[in-house]
Amino acid sequence: MYKFMQDKITHSAEIIKDAVKNYQRIAVACSFGKDSMATVLLAREVNPKIPVFSILTVFKPQATFEYLTKMNEQLKLNVTVYMVAREVPPILKDAGIAVKLLPAARFEAESAELEMVYGKKIYAAAPDRCCELLKVEPAKEAVKNYDAWVCGLRNTEGRTRKDYKEVEYRGLVKVNPILTWTEEEVLGYLEAKGVELHPWYNRVFSDGRKIRSLGCEPCTVPIYDWQDERDGRWKGTNKCGGECGIHTKKLK
Ligand code: SF4
Repeated sequence: MYKFMQDKITHSAEIIKDAVKNYQRIAVACSFGKDSMATVLLAREVNPKIPVFSILTVFKPQATFEYLTKMNEQLKLNVTVYMVAREVPPILKDAGIAVKLLPAARFEAESAELEMVYGKKIYAAAPDRCCELLKVEPAKEAVKNYDAWVCGLRNTEGRTRKDYKEVEYRGLVKVNPILTWTEEEVLGYLEAKGVELHPWYNRVFSDGRKIRSLGCEPCTVPIYDWQDERDGRWKGTNKCGGECGIHTKKLK
């Protein structure tokens, strides 16, 4: 690994070290996308016991459930999943993964109403509301007992991520240790660590497009190399390339 990259890794680890020292009640979020995986690896090197949580939704691809289960076992992450759903997905149950189920009635009622009015699923008719109910609300629940959280946000991912800081103080402290890493650096770091990627990153479509930012299945499409990583998120909606709200809304 180039010295430049090693310096970046050292800098990121220092950010996490400071946060762990300053905030005893701290956790790391993991969506099991590439950036999350790099962040979790770094955080666990600093503090092998740092809690890991993941916000899943009923619309995440099955491959994400499988990859989470595999990585949780391989890396001994002891992840806690937060999810709006009536039942724990069998794959997580069978693996003994801790799942905090959040009530699904409101989501189901709003989904049914939107589908009746617009003839579309909630993620197509009202993606902001869908993300609010399935991602932002569970994230609030996940962080409610923490003073700080660490995540894999990077400022080269897309138009909405350019102005973040490595540490943000907004009630709940948010730590973005790999903020300045590039996509190539994240992939190179995971390769050097011998950590396999979520299988969707390895799919190359016939026109050369790839999945470069992973989300829920209906809101993730492949994109070209010249596009911003997040351009494949919420394509065809006014939220395209945007945010689910976890990084933009007040969680606490
Ligand atoms: S990413 Fe799409 S499916 Fe997932 S919560 Fe947001 S709108 Fe809903």
